[in-house]
Amino acid sequence: MDGRFFRCTDCDELICFTQYDTVPEYEFLQDKGDFVEIYSNERTSFINEHSKHRVEELKINKDSFVREGSYTDPMGEGYIEATNGREDFVIRRWRKGVNAPYDYQLIRGRIKVRVEKIEVQKSNIRKQMEFDFGKMPVSKIDAFISVYEKMVSYMDPGWIEIELFETDSPTLCFGKGNNEMIKKLMEVSEEIFSGEELKNLNQFILDNNSYDGVITLMVTRQFKIIRTKKRRAEIVKFPPKEELIDIRKVG
Ligand SMILES: [Zn+2]
Repeated sequence: MDGRFFRCTDCDELICFTQYDTVPEYEFLQDKGDFVEIYSNERTSFINEHSKHRVEELKINKDSFVREGSYTDPMGEGYIEATNGREDFVIRRWRKGVNAPYDYQLIRGRIKVRVEKIEVQKSNIRKQMEFDFGKMPVSKIDAFISVYEKMVSYMDPGWIEIELFETDSPTLCFGKGNNEMIKKLMEVSEEIFSGEELKNLNQFILDNNSYDGVITLMVTRQFKIIRTKKRRAEIVKFPPKEELIDIRKVG
């Protein structure tokens, strides 16, 4: 999510400034013979409404972004975590129509992501190995896939570095193995390969362990929003004066 996010602590309301708010739209008016600014963005109304209130900037956790619907679906709702250092929030982003601007909502809570499934890219590994190692017997390729799958079934999920190389599905992403996982995979491959073949296979593993390379794992994740209650007024700490933002001065 692009932009800067602010929370008015008096109104408990979210204010979002994006680079697009400052771009007015123009229309040519015949009778005036000139272009006239016809679109006054929401930023002006936010400033008028909250300029005398206590406004704080929220820090966004960029890595927490999740969404519903596919990445190509312009109507898919998105969520991202934000904090003022004292409370955790989730910002919900959606739009009412394909060409409508985004709407944002401030939710108290956090995003909980759960890994549902980790899978080896079986058919892609097979295809790539057949291509790279033309003379290798299919039985050896199958045996490699099988030891890889077995290893994945017991390995520490912390061995995967999720790169969030996005696919069209919001729940599916690719994760590359860390050094430990790669070491282990090379170790279990010794059951099948040796000599020059093993050397070439090790290189194959290294060459295909990034982005959506065939050695990377398909990780299916689900997320939900865990809501937290608004703190009672007497225990809410207001931000110190020096942390308050004058939204009239935001560029
Ligand atoms: Zn306000």
